[in-house]
Amino acid sequence: MSKLVKCELCDADIEIQDDVVVGELITCPECGSEYEVVKVTEKGVIIKEAEKIEEDWGE
Ligand SMILES: [Zn+2]
Repeated sequence: MSKLVKCELCDADIEIQDDVVVGELITCPECGSEYEVVKVTEKGVIIKEAEKIEEDWGE
């Protein structure tokens, strides 16, 4: 049984695998927004918008 969360930006349903773990990154299939799993409960999964980490490949 998979879990569903709503994308805050485009209101799409994002399917989350049952074995999801805290800290996992989820991408909205509709708009591409990245979310981070902050809590997993029996009722569902709490997500927050993932912080944008600027990757620095300058070295
Ligand atoms: Zn979205």
